[in-house]
Amino acid sequence: MNEVALVTGGARGIGAGIAARLELGGWRVIVADRDDPLEPPDGGRFVCCDVSDEDAVGTLVEGLNAEEGRLDALICNAGFMIRKPIGKLALAEWNSVIGTNLTSTFLLARAAETLLRASHGAIVTIASTRAHQSEPNTESYAASKGGLLALTHALAVSLGPDVRANCVSPGWIETRGIELSAEDHEQHPAGRVGHVGDVASLVAWLVGRESGFVTGSEFIVDGGMTRKMIYAE
Ligand code: NAD
Repeated sequence: MNEVALVTGGARGIGAGIAARLELGGWRVIVADRDDPLEPPDGGRFVCCDVSDEDAVGTLVEGLNAEEGRLDALICNAGFMIRKPIGKLALAEWNSVIGTNLTSTFLLARAAETLLRASHGAIVTIASTRAHQSEPNTESYAASKGGLLALTHALAVSLGPDVRANCVSPGWIETRGIELSAEDHEQHPAGRVGHVGDVASLVAWLVGRESGFVTGSEFIVDGGMTRKMIYAE
């Protein structure tokens, strides 16, 4: 049996790119998403799952244990944002963002701990540069991603040396096929907006054996945007 990876939120966007990249590298990839995938996994399988739901995560990992019998990499990518002034943000909305973007990683890591320890596997979480900086009206998203960054180093310390855990924080990654302007690209020190392959190739390295001395770290993939000082003219 090939090494097995579980990619949450892999039906589209960055998660689908990570799944495709790992499949190319010979991994068997299980995609878990609440929506059907745009393309079925190549050689793996798709599981419909709301990763913020404790029972659903339990069933997902039990199924993985029964079908694959191993888990070598857990990629916690599922996430979404609500943009709303704090005065209009309902508690249920706050909780739903925290549930999907943060609590899901606790649920998945807890459920998969035994399998990951047995394989000396790796966890990669997908946070955001918004763990460090914000636009207005994004409190729940920023809090969830900051929490995810901290949860990742906590997992690295608790589950090591059996399991490594690292965090990837993307900046602007184009996933929707929208037309971008020259200004969109040029504002980045790297000269362009990111694409899913920029994140996927890093994730592939982080779950591979060559990164065996790397754990508890954050990797920012943002074309240099968070290093750029901006003053109004
Ligand atoms: P996307 O909306 O294109 O894809 C997210 C996927 O997650 C979707 O398939 C969706 O169905 C799934 N999902 C959402 N909630 C879920 C749940 N509760 N259970 C199961 N699946 C669920 O988003 P994307 O742009 O590909 O982003 C992927 C990750 O990267 C997210 O965590 C996002 O916060 C993060 N991120 C994205 C960017 C960017 O610029 N695209 C930047 C920084 C961070």
